[in-house]
Amino acid sequence: MRRNLVILGATGSIGENAVGVARAMRDRIALRGLAAAESWSRLATLADTTGCPQVAIANPRHETSLRRALPADCRILAGEAGMVELCTAAEVDIVLCAISGVAGLRPVLAAIEAGKDIALASKEILVMAGRQVMDAAKRRGVRILPVDSEHSAIFQCLQGESPKHLKRLFLTASGGPFRQASARQLEKVDYRQALAHPTWRMGPKITVDSATLMNKGLELIEAHWLFDIEPADIEVIVHPQSIIHSMVEMIDGSVLAQMGRPDMRLPIQYALGYPERVPLNFSPLDILACGDLQFAPVRERLFPAVRLARQAVEIGGSLPAVFNAANEVAVAAFRAGLVSFLDISRLVAEAMELHRPHPAGDLNTVLAADLWAREATRKLSGC
Ligand code: MG
Repeated sequence: MRRNLVILGATGSIGENAVGVARAMRDRIALRGLAAAESWSRLATLADTTGCPQVAIANPRHETSLRRALPADCRILAGEAGMVELCTAAEVDIVLCAISGVAGLRPVLAAIEAGKDIALASKEILVMAGRQVMDAAKRRGVRILPVDSEHSAIFQCLQGESPKHLKRLFLTASGGPFRQASARQLEKVDYRQALAHPTWRMGPKITVDSATLMNKGLELIEAHWLFDIEPADIEVIVHPQSIIHSMVEMIDGSVLAQMGRPDMRLPIQYALGYPERVPLNFSPLDILACGDLQFAPVRERLFPAVRLARQAVEIGGSLPAVFNAANEVAVAAFRAGLVSFLDISRLVAEAMELHRPHPAGDLNTVLAADLWAREATRKLSGC
């Protein structure tokens, strides 16, 4: 039986990969809807080449352009309400969310309420609203399937294991392009250098986040919610080869790892096929060509992101949303040449210090903390 899929954020790096994977899995997956935030022209091309019957554009200003670019029989929805409608339609079975920022939050919560399984690639969703998302998923009996490679690895390692046998998680980090850089070198690196990721090809924001290890901080928060594990029991270790995508330690001391090529199609395919495994239609990991696999601790003094994330999720409430939003603004300021690379973590730490954490049980409180952090970080960065 084919499952009907909607992809939010179809025009981004993960979204485009997901469209490709869905087409390769066409005997199991039917593409029912594609959504993008802004890139209406690319969205139209994707809908056209895949024959997808419905699209949604988050920014309603592009609705007219989109309508002109698509055949009359393609249904076009717009705005947040349009994305919600796309995700909650009766025929939809699974929603893959890869839209960046907060734009996917309400559509994903609505999809969970409507009983749809979620394949989750957008980190912000669990970072900002982890409690709401996981509680709603449990109440509605839907699956939250991780698409992030680290979380997919942990999810795969934990298949068939009882949660009470889990002791620790090891999130692996490539270490990014500045893994071995000194403090003096780090003060001078620019945006272009930060974009040169050694092992993964991704969008610009996440590539900068990989260089600062903010990405690993966000992933620590995600892992806390997905696997119901204390932040103190999640360790981040640098593994430059990106072959082991993460590991779990069980109470008997066994450590299980998941390995594979650094290719996002693998975790996407696992999430869309779950609980089945689907034959791979591209080249597998060549284990003999991997060479040495190395592991090292995170240099916390130069890369405080993981420590800040752990602090954010331990205090909880509105603080993880502040961590995330402050980082977004700081990355934008770095990209514009207004602040240095090391200022990104400094700004996040300062915004977190300024913030008075408060309970954030509903979405409006979370979004208010997000706005507060954006404003505060803008002021702190002088832009
Ligand atoms: Mg990842």
